[in-house]
Amino acid sequence: MTRPLIARIDTAALAHNLGVARAAAPNSRILAVVKADAYGHGLSRTARALRAADGFAVLRLEEAAQLRGEGYSHPIVLLEGFFHPDELPEIARLRLRPVIHRSDQLDMLARARLAQRVDVLLKLNTGMNRLGINPKRLLEMLAALRAAPHIGGITLMTHFASADEDDASVERQLASFQTATRDLGLPASLANSAAILRHPQTHADWVRPGIMLYGASPFIEHSGEALGLLPVMTLESRLIGIQFVRKGEGVGYGARYIAERDMKVGIVAAGYADGYPRHADTGTPILVGNQITRTLGRVSMDMLNVDLTPVPTAHIGSAVTLWGSGLPVEHVAAAAGTISYELLTALAPRVPVEET
Ligand SMILES: *Cc1c(COP(=O)(O)O)cnc(C)c1O
Repeated sequence: MTRPLIARIDTAALAHNLGVARAAAPNSRILAVVKADAYGHGLSRTARALRAADGFAVLRLEEAAQLRGEGYSHPIVLLEGFFHPDELPEIARLRLRPVIHRSDQLDMLARARLAQRVDVLLKLNTGMNRLGINPKRLLEMLAALRAAPHIGGITLMTHFASADEDDASVERQLASFQTATRDLGLPASLANSAAILRHPQTHADWVRPGIMLYGASPFIEHSGEALGLLPVMTLESRLIGIQFVRKGEGVGYGARYIAERDMKVGIVAAGYADGYPRHADTGTPILVGNQITRTLGRVSMDMLNVDLTPVPTAHIGSAVTLWGSGLPVEHVAAAAGTISYELLTALAPRVPVEET
């Protein structure tokens, strides 16, 4: 038998979650964010399941080229634009839409000799202070863009710093965007998953859902399920060992957990080299069969330990769910001091993936 750890990807859940985004932003087109190998779910299979989206957003030229190679004619946005003028001929040939967030990208574009026009997104920094131009420079940048020989359509965009938790900061960023872009008559894109679900005033022409498509909630206070989303990735394994541990004995590396009583401890085939967070301390939720229990002690590279006290019928081979169906990845992430995004994107290449 092979090692029992497997990631199951529910492609019907992807399509369902796209429907939730549509229903939340019925007047906007949807740019499905499939960067980072579709948040760890696999770019090809995810794009196939989300082909009803109006466009895709990726980071790297290679990902965009892969999607074109697989036959998608959707708009494809490069979220960090390009890094070197050498990339421009391929961007033009593949009809990709780079994000322009610095003036030197505009200079590169203006100097390039291209056979096709390039549609671009011009990104404004409205307060997150990550990528984007100062809104005060918008008119100057637009004039330069329009004077460049190969520029096609222009979409204006920005990104929210705290759409998941701070309504006032969304309002400030939205006001900054609207003040800068008023009367320009250009299409706009602002909303990530949190803004799609919580701030309908930000929807505009294109929304950019990421995490919600994968069934996880962008908010700490609601699970994906409470938002009508279905988990897409379920990480499953089995018990490959059982130990009877006496009160006072340690479990695992560093004996980080000391048994409070005589107890049965299950050993699960899943560790940090699979993408399970090493920072998940004793008490991280985990399912054995359908029973919720907790991890114990340190996560090892290839294994972790679970408390079998609530699951007296557990045996070697019992099914274990690390996250996904029946156990929201957000809950595991919270126990490990991180967010679902990090756990999903960190799924290790050695974990076999099966589509359901
Ligand atoms: C990753 C990303 C998104 C998607 O964000 P979620 O929180 O996953 O919905 C949207 N816009 C930009 C610019 C991004 O980089």
